[in-house]
Amino acid sequence: MKPAAFDYVTPRTVAEAVAALADTDRKAQVLAGGQSLLIEMHYRRARPDLVVDINRVADLDALRVGDGALRVGALVRHRVFESPRAAPGPLGRLLSLAAHHIAHPPIRTLGTMVGSLAWAHPASEWCTVAVALGADIEVRGGDGDRSLGAHDYFRGPHLTTREPGQLITGVRLPLLEQNTGVGFLEHRRTHASFAQIAVVATLTVHDGVITGARIGLANAADRPVRAVAAETSLIGAEFDQVESEGQRADAGPFHRAAGLAAERDASPRAQPYADVDYQRHVVAVLVRRTLHQAAADLRADAGRGDSGDAG
Ligand SMILES: Cc1cc2nc3c(=O)[nH]c(=O)nc-3n(C[C@H](O)[C@H](O)[C@H](O)COP(=O)(O)OP(=O)(O)OC[C@H]3O[C@@H](n4cnc5c(N)ncnc54)[C@H](O)[C@@H]3O)c2cc1C
Repeated sequence: MKPAAFDYVTPRTVAEAVAALADTDRKAQVLAGGQSLLIEMHYRRARPDLVVDINRVADLDALRVGDGALRVGALVRHRVFESPRAAPGPLGRLLSLAAHHIAHPPIRTLGTMVGSLAWAHPASEWCTVAVALGADIEVRGGDGDRSLGAHDYFRGPHLTTREPGQLITGVRLPLLEQNTGVGFLEHRRTHASFAQIAVVATLTVHDGVITGARIGLANAADRPVRAVAAETSLIGAEFDQVESEGQRADAGPFHRAAGLAAERDASPRAQPYADVDYQRHVVAVLVRRTLHQAAADLRADAGRGDSGDAG
């Protein structure tokens, strides 16, 4: 099918883009990578009467490190993050793991991290990373600049706290301290399809004790969620116990955390291809495996000699 008729503008500055979006008489939509919007328009599920193409807006493709965060501009493509060098230390490794799970290379070449945050699909890798890390989403509207915390930004499938007329200019992801291990795993039906369930995990260890844990779940609810009960259960656990858990999968801190994530943190909806019990089972398996992946990453980083303290 072809899209319904629409007008098209190509602003050169953020101010021009915001002015175009401010026209409340029109149903305006931003065009970034087009990898979700254009499909919706072709199926006529989206019928904007004005498309504001931001691809010529200067400086939106900038990636900057400063003030303890990586600032990702609205035109930075998924593909940039395939390299772990796109961000320093563990954050770069985490973004690289996640990026490789998004669709396939042509889509990663065009699609943007910020476009994913705007689109707010419950299975989105970037949305789940943003929630797990506590990112700040920067928007500009007619009343100036605002920062929206990712922890309560997502309100349901394709629903967020962003108001109509607000352009997302970028997102700030906090850098992760050096003695942090990272993991990202996904269960999906075909190679390039959206995740049935995906898990992001980070583990921080000081003097052999887990002092920090962040776990995000994709598609385990109507929005990406942080597995707070699972995270809390890990704080204070001895990192050595994790080694012995590797031999016995039915006991230990990661097993306990996986159960809490599945039963307390996830709230899956029945799907045609998977009932709720099955999805909780997948959450538990993936959380345990992703935590082991993060533990292995921490040990490998300590082996490279640049972590200082891996327990
Ligand atoms: C075959 C296929 C497989 C895919 N698989 C995955 C997957 O596994 N995981 C995944 O996460 N995604 C997947 N996607 C979606 C893809 O990642 C998109 O790139 C992404 O969801 C949207 O980014 P975009 O830059 O293309 O945004 P666009 O398509 O240009 O825009 C998407 C929406 O966000 C709005 N928007 C975009 N940028 C801004 C902004 N700066 N401010 C305000 N609003 C904005 C648009 O108006 C529109 O409503 C897949 C897509 C396809 C076609």
